[in-house]
Parts: sequence; C-alpha cells; structure tokens
Amino acid sequence: MEQQFSPGIRRYVEKANELGERRRQYRAQVRALKFDTIAVHGMYGVEEAFSGGQGGLIEPLFLSTSQAYRDSDEMEAGLGYLIPTWCYSRIHNPTVFYLEETLALLEAYGCADDASALATASGMSAIKQAVEPLVALTSAPGEQINFVSAAQLYGGTFQLFNLRMRERGAQVRWVTEPWDIEAWAKLVDGNTRFIYGEMPSNPQQACFDIRAIAELAHSHGIPFIVDSTIATPALMRPLQHGADIVVQSLTKTIGAGGFTIGGAVIARHGLTSRHLPDEVRADYATWLKLWPFRDSGPCMSPHSAFFLLNELRTLRLKVEFMSANTMEVARYLAKHPKVERVDYLGLPEHPLYSCASRYLRMVDSDEPTFGHLMSFTIKGSAADTRRFFDALKRIYRATDLGRIKSVATIPAISTHMQQGEEGRQLAGIPPTMVRLCVGGEHPADVIADLDQALAKI
Ligand SMILES: *Cc1c(COP(=O)(O)O)cnc(C)c1O
Repeated sequence: MEQQFSPGIRRYVEKANELGERRRQYRAQVRALKFDTIAVHGMYGVEEAFSGGQGGLIEPLFLSTSQAYRDSDEMEAGLGYLIPTWCYSRIHNPTVFYLEETLALLEAYGCADDASALATASGMSAIKQAVEPLVALTSAPGEQINFVSAAQLYGGTFQLFNLRMRERGAQVRWVTEPWDIEAWAKLVDGNTRFIYGEMPSNPQQACFDIRAIAELAHSHGIPFIVDSTIATPALMRPLQHGADIVVQSLTKTIGAGGFTIGGAVIARHGLTSRHLPDEVRADYATWLKLWPFRDSGPCMSPHSAFFLLNELRTLRLKVEFMSANTMEVARYLAKHPKVERVDYLGLPEHPLYSCASRYLRMVDSDEPTFGHLMSFTIKGSAADTRRFFDALKRIYRATDLGRIKSVATIPAISTHMQQGEEGRQLAGIPPTMVRLCVGGEHPADVIADLDQALAKI
C-alpha cells in the first residue's frame, strides 16, 4: 500500500509512525504502573506536558472544533486515517482523547489483553454504540436474530433493548435469574449475537458469575458486554474476568460531582465475535470511533472530558469512602422496624453476598467492597413510601446516583416508570422500593435524616 503514497504524504506517515512508536512505548510504561498512578496521570506525563501542554500540570482543555493542517499532503493523510489526527471534535478531540486513554488503562488494569475506549455524550449513547454494530453488521435483512440480557437493567437500557432494538429486528431474550448460569445457557442459540448484563444492577443489585457467562458467550463465538457503571474500575474490571466490552455511564459514580452527562465503551483488543470482520474485532472501540460513531455524532464535549479526568484522579478514594458509609447506613436500615428488607450486596445475609464478594474487590487491596448503591422496601403501602420519601430533609430526591451527595428515588415512579407494571414485575421493582445512594456526608447525618423520615410513616 505505502508505495502508492506521494513523497509528501509518505513523509507525514513516516513521522507519524515514529511518534506512534514512542507513544506505544510510553503507554507500555504507564500500563505497568499502579491503578492510582494511572488514575492521576493517564497518558499525560511530564514529556507530554512539555511537548503539547506548555508545561502545564494538567491536561489542556482543547476547545477548538477542528484541526488545521500544514498542507494538502497532511490533510489527505489525516482524513485518510493514515496518521493520527483529531480532525474535527465530533470524531476526536485531544482532551477527550486523554480521558479515553485513562479509562482504557484503568479498565484493562491487571488484564492480559489491552483495551481501547470511546467516550460518548451519555451512558445511553455508549450502550447504543456498543450494541448496534453487533446487530447491524451481523445479519442479513429479514434474518431472525436475538441477544440475551439480564432483565435487571437501568431503565433506559431496558427501553433501548425492548423497543429500539426490536425496531432494528433484534429480539431481546430476558434472563430473570442472572445468578443462575443455566438461565443464560438455555436462551443462547445459533442466532444470538451478544450477551449483556449490568452488575451490580440498578436498583435491584443483581450479581452474576462474569467468568462463567464469558465462557458461555465465547463457547458460542459471541461477545459478553458488562455495564459496570455502579462498580467502576476501582471495584471491578470485567475485562480481567473474560468480558469483551465494558460500558460505563460516566455521569454516575465516575462523575461523582454531578456536573456532566457522559459515557464510554471500553473494548478488549481482539474481542470474541464469530460474526464481526477481523479488522473490527481487532480494536472495536477505535473502529467504532472512526466509523459508525463518526457518522452518527454522539460525541462528548471537551469540557466534560476535562472535568471527568479530574474526577478519575480520586476515584478509588471516593469509592472506598462512599462504600464504607453505605455499609453503615445499610446496617442501620436492616434493623429498622419500618423497613421490610434491605438490598445491599455488602450485607452477609444478602443471597448474592458470596457472588458479590468474589467480584467486587477494592483494586490493589483486594478487600471485598460493595459500592454506594442500595435499595430497601418500606413495610407498608406505596403511599407510606411516598410519605417517608417526602419527609427527607438532607437527602436529595432525584433520579440520580453515584453522587458525593446522598440521593434517593422511588424507582417505580421515576427511573422505571416507562416500562410499565409488567416490566417492573419482571425486573422485581415494587412500588415500596426506595433506591438510596449514600454519598460522602458523615453517615451519622444520613442516618439521622432517614430516622426522622421513617418516623413519619
Ligand atoms: C444512568 C445509567 C446509564 C445511562 O447513563 P446516562 O449517562 O444517563 O445516559 C446506564 N447504566 C447505568 C447502570 C446507569 O445507572
């Protein structure tokens, strides 16, 4: 191929190859660092600071919509993807790129295979980007294809799978007991294109055996996708356990400060799919970025990437702290006479405690740690639940989670309203369920607020 380039283009390609080699070597060094060091620095090191950042200690915020080229040869090389280029901020942006590199390195931490990441405008767009080609690229018109998913999903994902994917001709097969590997195995057949699960799930705290499901998927030559928004790479890195693709809503725990919507697709290099062409499987996240994502436009704003990079630097600390606070609040609620049951994976009486302890472990310390998401049901009616909810004084009533500020919602009238009574029953969401995400406040103050509100029932 290369001999067909003009000498001018060849010069740019050769220079890019040299730079690319240096970057690969530097990346290999970063990949060998500890999790916290990667989270703090990512690919923006001292050398990068002086080559592109005027010595600044943090990644520059590049607001330019587009990149200028030195001459026509560089432009042709750039737009032909012959050299690394960011071109136009809908496709790439240097600040977004720093975020993608950090996320890829954190999700691939401790994993034999490397990974790449694609940052998107929201968690939902990340999920849509991740699954769409697995359906669109792998079926002929009129072919009956399906995918298998845990039923315990974020409400938006449930709708995407139940409605939008059906419109595209792919039928979702729900696994209502995802902790049972047989429940998955009996739904997978020759027309299944991928397997999907969310762990821990929001709000029901479902948990499943990632390794066993990845093996099942691979025995059928299809990829396994995990939404690990609630866990974040500080608690769980599904790629290490055999998953092929991780999706994250960066809006939530990773963006704990609560200032931006964002998402990411992080894919293992050389993922399993007997349906996708080899050049797509080789580096799925980068392929998505260069082709389907470019053509549909759900890009992340550089401002968002800049703020999210800052959040990632303290990710492990926040997750550790919020998990410890949540445990204290869960223990309090479990003993309260007006609480029917508490679903928190960290309570030893939870039926999925042993599954959760296997997978949810604080990075580098290996301590079982269970995150900030819990739900509980009120002993009483839907009206009692609303009375308690309306009495909260410090905890925010919001359909939000993963915040440094504690937030609560009633899923049946908010996040899971659209899927209707039948969908809620399938997912196990009664009208008396309250989802609570404990933040960084002192747990005694969170407990005091819950206590006075429970006294109103
Ligand atoms: C919120 C959420 C999403 C969707 O993310 P957005 O950024 O709101 O689009 C996906 N999965 C989980 C588990 C979520 O909590």
